[in-house]
Amino acid sequence: MATSTATGVLRHSLLAVGARTEIRDLAMHLPAARSFAGRFVAGETRDDALRAVLALRARGIQATVDFLGEHVREASQAEAVAAEYEALLADFAARHLDAQVSVKPTALGLDVDEALCRVLVGRIAALAAANGAAVRIDMEGSAYTERTLALFKALHGEHPNVGIVLQAYLRRTAADVEAMLQLGASVRLCKGAYDEPPTIAFANKAEVDASYQRLMERLLLEGHRPAFATHDPRLIRHALWFAAEHGVGRERFDFEMLYGIGRPLQRRLADAGYTVRVYVPYGREWYGYFLRRLAERPANLAFFLGAALRR
Ligand SMILES: Cc1cc2nc3c(=O)[nH]c(=O)nc-3n(C[C@H](O)[C@H](O)[C@H](O)COP(=O)(O)OP(=O)(O)OC[C@H]3O[C@@H](n4cnc5c(N)ncnc54)[C@H](O)[C@@H]3O)c2cc1C
Repeated sequence: MATSTATGVLRHSLLAVGARTEIRDLAMHLPAARSFAGRFVAGETRDDALRAVLALRARGIQATVDFLGEHVREASQAEAVAAEYEALLADFAARHLDAQVSVKPTALGLDVDEALCRVLVGRIAALAAANGAAVRIDMEGSAYTERTLALFKALHGEHPNVGIVLQAYLRRTAADVEAMLQLGASVRLCKGAYDEPPTIAFANKAEVDASYQRLMERLLLEGHRPAFATHDPRLIRHALWFAAEHGVGRERFDFEMLYGIGRPLQRRLADAGYTVRVYVPYGREWYGYFLRRLAERPANLAFFLGAALRR
């Protein structure tokens, strides 16, 4: 999401430089990077993810679990990611957990073979449904928006437990929200975490926040169990106020936050009787996720560089 111009430039540079293979290889071996990523990632294994889900449950908080990774280049890699989700769902079933999973289309082969990606997400959705759980299709960079929406539409009829993510920073999203309302789709609304040009995305924080607020109001009035994925206290206060003002009960929408961010806020909302779901990422492919968390908050970059230089 673009914030002020300075933050926007920083974000653009960090995401562009960080995407280079040599930087990625270097960073993944830096102890400071691994330790900083540990703030946002539950761990490398399924057991780590399960432990995090159970700890959240003990605090009255739901989870959606993401097996980290993106942009696979071969069908066999997409199959392996699907197999990991299937094993995760089997572990949930064994513990009678109805935790949701979040999937990235490019981790499940969107770039390799769209039909295969559809089959794999469908398989995951069917298993999740047997647990009484849902699957959320994450939204990646704008090169994938159309294909991700097409994937969602192809699955939605047969798998009503599949939901989609829309990004408030994209100018197109007001129209996409209307289309999803027509379909009866469950939408997770986030601000957006990728580097997008101003031709297609709002260029500063005030515009992104205003877009988020408009779309949130629309989803509160007409949405099908929308999820508001933000840690922004002002927008969360607005959701609470708007819902009360329009008689939208707390059982009709959820709040979602990222693992390691906004814990006191998660707690306060859960204690007040709202459904709070935390996005729990795990796995060895933490780099892309870590980079986006670094890029969306300059304070994180300063903290990380400080830790790296001290070593
Ligand atoms: C459950 C969930 C799912 C998501 N799924 C997607 C997706 O599919 N596609 C996508 O593009 N984006 C996704 N995002 C990321 C989202 O788009 C934003 O990049 C991210 O949530 C930060 O925006 P914000 O709404 O918290 O608002 P901001 O205005 O960025 O932040 C508000 C406050 O939150 C805290 N905060 C925000 N980010 C951080 C951070 N990295 N470290 C520490 N504190 C922070 C700070 O206190 C900050 O002041 C998801 C976010 C959540 C919560």
